[in-house]
Amino acid sequence: MAKRTTERLLATRWHEAGHTVAAKVLKVDQVTCKPQGIAGKREQRAAARRCIIATYAGMEAEKLFQPDAIDWHGDDENAFELSRQWAVIPRGSSVVGDDAHRKYLEKLRRESRRLVYQYRLLIKGIVEAPVENRKLKGPSAAKCTGLSSTHP
Ligand SMILES: [Zn+2]
Repeated sequence: MAKRTTERLLATRWHEAGHTVAAKVLKVDQVTCKPQGIAGKREQRAAARRCIIATYAGMEAEKLFQPDAIDWHGDDENAFELSRQWAVIPRGSSVVGDDAHRKYLEKLRRESRRLVYQYRLLIKGIVEAPVENRKLKGPSAAKCTGLSSTHP
């Protein structure tokens, strides 16, 4: 029981670190993760697409670092809902949830998996950092990810 609880807590930390890093790299708001306030349908769809990838990143980080972790988080539904709501659906798809749509979401999930793998050391660093340093802050995050910082 105690061991299971510890494993679950650790899995949650991998999961959250996966979201955090993906959201940072993809420049989406991790908390709301909705393309609100973005002008233009094209741009909104592009932002929603990045949100979907960041949504999958939690489960992908868990799977990478704790392969026996189970999908418990409801992120699959959230990703599906984002794609429905913002019309992030492939050209060949006629109905939301059809085969073409499902395949497209699988593709985004693979993109998320690659991103998590690419930034695995950063994710590991967050999980293993002392509690007070666990938040990914602007300049240090930019340094870690190789992105230019928006906070000078
Ligand atoms: Zn999640």
